[in-house]
Amino acid sequence: MIISIVGSGYVGLVTGTCLADCGHTVYCIDINKQKIDNLNKGIIPIYEPGLDTLIEKNIGLNKLYFTTDYDVISKSDVTFIAVGTPPGEDGSADLQYVLAVAEQFGKQIVKKSVICTKSTVPVGTADKVRNTILNVLKERNENIEFEVVSNPEFLKEGTAIEDFMNPDRIVIGCDNSYSQDIMKLVYEKYTDKIIFTSIKSAEMIKYASNSMLATRIAFMNELSNLCDKVGANIEDVAKGMGTDTRIGPKFLNAGCGYGGSCFPKDVKALIQTGKENNVDLSILHHVDMSNTWQKHILLDKFQDHFKLYYKEDLKVAVWGLSFKPNTDDTREATSLVMLQWLKDNVSHINVYDPIVKELPIKSDNISICNDKYEALDGVDCLFIVTEWDEFKNPNFNMIKEYMNGDTIIDGRNIYSLKELENKGFNYISIGRPSIYK
Ligand code: NAD
Repeated sequence: MIISIVGSGYVGLVTGTCLADCGHTVYCIDINKQKIDNLNKGIIPIYEPGLDTLIEKNIGLNKLYFTTDYDVISKSDVTFIAVGTPPGEDGSADLQYVLAVAEQFGKQIVKKSVICTKSTVPVGTADKVRNTILNVLKERNENIEFEVVSNPEFLKEGTAIEDFMNPDRIVIGCDNSYSQDIMKLVYEKYTDKIIFTSIKSAEMIKYASNSMLATRIAFMNELSNLCDKVGANIEDVAKGMGTDTRIGPKFLNAGCGYGGSCFPKDVKALIQTGKENNVDLSILHHVDMSNTWQKHILLDKFQDHFKLYYKEDLKVAVWGLSFKPNTDDTREATSLVMLQWLKDNVSHINVYDPIVKELPIKSDNISICNDKYEALDGVDCLFIVTEWDEFKNPNFNMIKEYMNGDTIIDGRNIYSLKELENKGFNYISIGRPSIYK
């Protein structure tokens, strides 16, 4: 098949490349000329394990192309919308980019084809996409048939290729057999994984899934704060809960808050859809609020631990900027909240991340370091904000040598409590009170 993907960000680039690898001819379109020029020179704009090799392979096979020209839509059987849907002021999804693509589709098509939304969009968006295209066709005085399909994306940054190649499920919302047959051809290799639903249900499934995962995280985070107070250990609690097959072990890790481009915005957008329909999704209000507080939890622990010190005299290190490991994405990351506070309250902050090399927040007293130990030079406290593998087995003797103090505040519980305490660190983590208390 010939497929156009409009929007070559995390979702568009991974989807386009993987569909090319399935044997389709794929045109990845983006409005950002610099991005397309770079892609054509082999410079990949995002960090995603395995993506560079797969892009190179499929360019070599003449299966994958990058362009800023929308006219490739005219020869495509399916056009995917993979542009951003950032939150508007009230938290609802801003659909301007999605509808701009619908307009381009209306301008370009010359034969019956399918437009499929991969971006995360609220229930009812497919109707807006359809109406936008109909209006353009009316202006063109053309009566070309087209179908609208919803195919929400579930990939996880950091394991996106693997997620595409081994999907749990592929949700496709469509309302006729023509679109069903076309989408079966698109996902020919994975037809056993397809769940066909109505368009509205498909749009809802994406928000429901992300909101459920965010709720589990927020619940465990709040429990961990209680564990800290009452002396229980959140890891033991999670293990005891997760072995109940009705609950399951996944997404029970407490931490210093979820971030990224999806959970925070999708929870807010679903709350807004509820409001527009007079349904109060009160659980999600609290999930959103709880996560906002949790992003401050390491700072609260820091203030509590150093309560007898002048914070302005302290120097700290932050390990991890990205919102999770194996990605360079810092959107809504806990590190942003922390740096914002630290820059106004401590003397200096050294930051190290294995992949993110540009500071998301600039200030004279924040330095980015090239080495994780170098970042510890003379610091009183180390914060661990992202659980990169590189942080999991460090040389603790070197940590002690470089640091001025011996306090590690770990937002991801990556070390053994017992081991760190026995090594003489003041080790403060999430929901795991000291073994010596
Ligand atoms: P992104 O910001 O990384 O990429 C969007 C791209 O679209 C950018 O390159 C931008 O230049 C381009 N663009 C914007 N308007 C355009 C237009 N009119 N024509 C052509 N290109 C245009 O976004 P993303 O993270 O890939 O997310 C895209 C959508 O997928 C969002 O709705 C998001 O919620 C959803 N999603 C994201 C993830 C994720 O992990 N990132 C996972 C599942 C779903």
